Amino acid sequence: MDSHLFRSTWAEVDLNAIGHNVREMKNRLPEHCAVIAVVKADAYGHGAEKVAEKALDSGATMLAVALLKEALVLREANITDPILVFGRVSPHDVPVAASQNIILTCYQKDWVREVNQMKLPYPVDVHMKWDTGMGRVGLRTEEELIEITDELRNSTAVNLTGVYTHFATADDTEFAYFEKQQRRFDNVLKTFKSIWAEPVNVHVGNSAASIRFPERMYDYMRFGISMYGLYPSDPVKDERDIQLKPAFSLHSRLDHVKWLDPGESISYGATYTTEDEEYIGTIPIGYADGWIRKLQGADVLVDGKRMPIVGRITMDQTMIKLDQAYPVGTQVTLIGKQSDEEIEVDEIAEKLETINYEIPCMISERVPRQYK
Ligand code: PLP
Repeated sequence: MDSHLFRSTWAEVDLNAIGHNVREMKNRLPEHCAVIAVVKADAYGHGAEKVAEKALDSGATMLAVALLKEALVLREANITDPILVFGRVSPHDVPVAASQNIILTCYQKDWVREVNQMKLPYPVDVHMKWDTGMGRVGLRTEEELIEITDELRNSTAVNLTGVYTHFATADDTEFAYFEKQQRRFDNVLKTFKSIWAEPVNVHVGNSAASIRFPERMYDYMRFGISMYGLYPSDPVKDERDIQLKPAFSLHSRLDHVKWLDPGESISYGATYTTEDEEYIGTIPIGYADGWIRKLQGADVLVDGKRMPIVGRITMDQTMIKLDQAYPVGTQVTLIGKQSDEEIEVDEIAEKLETINYEIPCMISERVPRQYK
């Protein structure tokens, strides 16, 4: 598997798991609700092109990214399906988006006015973002809504095809804030419909909201973390009424194995000293690969068994304590399964006191992604 990678550390992305997760989600949704595959940040570190293709093959009908650059990369890969950009795109870059048929997000009347004055050869499609409580971007007041719809009505360059919002707490145990956002959204939607006659696509839900409230998902849901087989939070995981398959695993191979006397120290700072005679293995992954120093002490899998990381993780190499001598080249799994043992992304997230979203994203580009 790793003969042409020029290194023996790689991430494996199971595209069949992506396909399974998209189908699982679709099966939970009402017939009229379609799936937007969220492939921003290089598909949460999984590789945008391959994930996008698999998601589209498996039933998603639109893609979403954060940046115009990410959308352009997908167009360069000959993906012609609709792509929505969540983030603000400078009016200066709108002609490029329009020429590539990329849907942008708008929430500022001045943005619409500026684009309208640019005399684009083709109009640009936009979805309007409403901030109902996420507090990030989006319009918040009825006055803003009326002003921007006036601009849009007078615009030949900006074509409104959708409206959306984003929930801040859909993964929580407590639903009050979620319900408040939902109420605010319903109110804005009512006002909007009273001043805008043409049909638009409506979407509100991320993975958590869509898994929990599939019947509330209007025309689309936006499938991010759970498309990659990860649950948005423990409460959603505990409900477990959707069976997801994790797509990401991380592997390396022993580059060196040595036998040490008691009292020998390992790595920078000599923070680990052998107590007995010990076998120590070295694997070629370090913090430059995103395997950060805080993971000292985490387990890896060798021969289907857990072995601890000992001593400081260095930029390119990490040492592990082995239970016996293994040949150079033996596979080491940092995330994923070996026999009956498994190290889940969630375990690494817990060790790092963060959320599972961050883990595949933090494994750097230096680690080649292999697809199966
Ligand atoms: N919609 C928007 C606007 C987002 O920013 C994101 C991700 O952060 C998503 C949907 C997908 O969310 P999740 O990964 O929780 O499904």
